Amino acid sequence: MGKRFNIPQFPGHKNKVFTLSFDDGVVQDRRLIKLFDKYGVKATFNLGYGVLGYKGESLSPAGRKIDISKVKKEEVKKLYQDHEVGGHGLYHSSLTGIGSEGAMYEIIEDKRCLEDLIEKPVTMFAYPFGHYDDTVVQLLKLAGYKGARTVNSTYRFDLPKDPLILDPTCHYADEKIMDLARQFCESRSFAVQMFYVWGHAYELDGNDDWDRLEELLSYIAQYKDEIWFAGNGQILSYLEACKMLEYSVDGSFVYNPTCTDVDVLTAFGVEEHIAAGKITKLKETSL
Ligand SMILES: [Zn+2]
Repeated sequence: MGKRFNIPQFPGHKNKVFTLSFDDGVVQDRRLIKLFDKYGVKATFNLGYGVLGYKGESLSPAGRKIDISKVKKEEVKKLYQDHEVGGHGLYHSSLTGIGSEGAMYEIIEDKRCLEDLIEKPVTMFAYPFGHYDDTVVQLLKLAGYKGARTVNSTYRFDLPKDPLILDPTCHYADEKIMDLARQFCESRSFAVQMFYVWGHAYELDGNDDWDRLEELLSYIAQYKDEIWFAGNGQILSYLEACKMLEYSVDGSFVYNPTCTDVDVLTAFGVEEHIAAGKITKLKETSL
């Protein structure tokens, strides 16, 4: 065997992933999901169980009246079935301002109720108002959350170092978004990259931004052969599976103990598909 390494790729030997995260479970999610499905992209929708079904209005920054009503409990399972449901705190309280016992209840009770509703584990979270501190991060970890999104734009495509402080690339209405999309799609970088966009669907009404978002999605969809479209939790689970690979000491074979097939690079230009639950003999590499 020659020089080798273990660099995760995404399914289909892609090295880019595009993901979205939208908060609050507002009624505009119904239209947003149709748009996402049209272009085959995947999102995580972060919901506060205690406010589902709430009816309300607000004013956009431009003074436009907007509906901020939430979807009904009964429609959650079906509406979001092809995407992911994440937690967002039971009543959308700021988790840094209500004491650890209050934060714990908001986190756990939201998770329990959402899981009961969709009959799947809920593993992703978005911080209400973007507020978090060390205690809140620790509570999420103890509650079994794998990842939690902040509202701090990185304008970068790095994979998260700490998934419980997951900074997005940018908000969907950021003026730099199309420049970032071009940079991402046209990049020929060897490294794995993630483009992560977040927002609230009511903002699309408030800013009259539906066309603007569709422009982004239709541009990115042109590169679908090079980009994996996945939900936030799906990406983290996949990367966890990559980390679980057990290589023989001479690098001639590898065991994948997980139930997820993974694709990796084991040397320059040497792509391997490592099937779930199997031992795979690896190609010879040379210096
Ligand atoms: Zn929110």
